Amino acid sequence: MSTSKPDPAAGDLAGKSVLVVGAGGLGCPAALALVEAGVGRVALADDDRVELTNLHRQVLYGESDVGRDKLDAALETLAHFAAPGQKLEAVRTRLLPENARALVRGFDLVLEGADNFATKFLAADACHLEARPLVHGAAVRLRATVWSVAPGGCPCYRCLFEDLPAGEAALTCAEAGVLGPVVGLAGALMADLALDVLTGSPRYGTLFTYDGLKDRFRAVPVEARPSCPLCGPRATISELDELCYTAVPSDDGPTIRGVQP
Ligand SMILES: [Zn+2]
Repeated sequence: MSTSKPDPAAGDLAGKSVLVVGAGGLGCPAALALVEAGVGRVALADDDRVELTNLHRQVLYGESDVGRDKLDAALETLAHFAAPGQKLEAVRTRLLPENARALVRGFDLVLEGADNFATKFLAADACHLEARPLVHGAAVRLRATVWSVAPGGCPCYRCLFEDLPAGEAALTCAEAGVLGPVVGLAGALMADLALDVLTGSPRYGTLFTYDGLKDRFRAVPVEARPSCPLCGPRATISELDELCYTAVPSDDGPTIRGVQP
């Protein structure tokens, strides 16, 4: 992304910690890249089991892992790539309103590779309130988006998503489908942005998109939204309210009841 990118080895990555939220198509390649780059402590948060349909994009798992806890299989694979002294941790829960702030507080950076909007908004709010840098990623069908948010910073996730998505826009990659290389590429880009933050050269506030149909990358600046309820001057979100992150089924597909701007 830059010709002046610092050598990750030059930073103190051994002393850094990253929480990877979601051990799926984004979290798997991202965690692998972070471990191989030498990040000292990498934790994965998830509570799913490996399914056969995961395998084309969730690169830490093989056919013999189907049915196992994702974290058992993921940490087993990552251990093959870890150097002595590197710590790999399992956080055997989803990010929830009651645990999110305490969880993210324990890490230098959070990488959010969740497959649902409730978790994405929750990670955004928790990281903002705890002043932790956050790398977001999403991949659906042939499109991927990746960007990083400064600790307690602006623009934030709620600046970008003015209204909570509904219907087709809210489909997860499992529901809408995604091409394995596209989600893998997004996960690798997330790790790249995380390393930029950890080595002191963050690219906050730029949305990187990839269109797999046209094979085209774009870098788009994200504007802060003055009415943003999380980072705006009249922000209204000061705590995590359980009711704000409850998925509500609808005829059009999953929607999220959230804090309205
Ligand atoms: Zn905002």
